[in-house]
Amino acid sequence: MSIADYWRLEAPRFRLEATKCTNCDKIYFPPKRVCPICNNDELIHMDLSGRGRLITFTKVEKPAVEFEYMGPYYVGIVELEEGIRISASIVDVAEEQIKEGMPLELAFRKYYAIGDEGIVYYGYKFRPPL
Ligand SMILES: [Zn+2]
Repeated sequence: MSIADYWRLEAPRFRLEATKCTNCDKIYFPPKRVCPICNNDELIHMDLSGRGRLITFTKVEKPAVEFEYMGPYYVGIVELEEGIRISASIVDVAEEQIKEGMPLELAFRKYYAIGDEGIVYYGYKFRPPL
């Protein structure tokens, strides 16, 4: 990811910022400027709740180099209360604990770092509610 893309996506990544169409009420994450359903360009910003449930998941046994520090780890599809489905890492969960339908909440964590003293990228992941 380029530095420009990183900053452009900062709000969605840190606050789960979405947009909602003022005409048809469809919610978009990441945010869109124009509703692709009704072509309305008056979309309002909203923060998603960060609360949802696990739809499905898989265990990543052999992570890519940037994510080796996490491995093995879980990646899942989380359906938020607002009906939005997000692909994200599932953290702080044991193998015997993770199951479809379990409640989850937003957690901000390290994604990866470039170099030993380089830029550290952070973003959203999901965990069981505390
Ligand atoms: Zn619309």
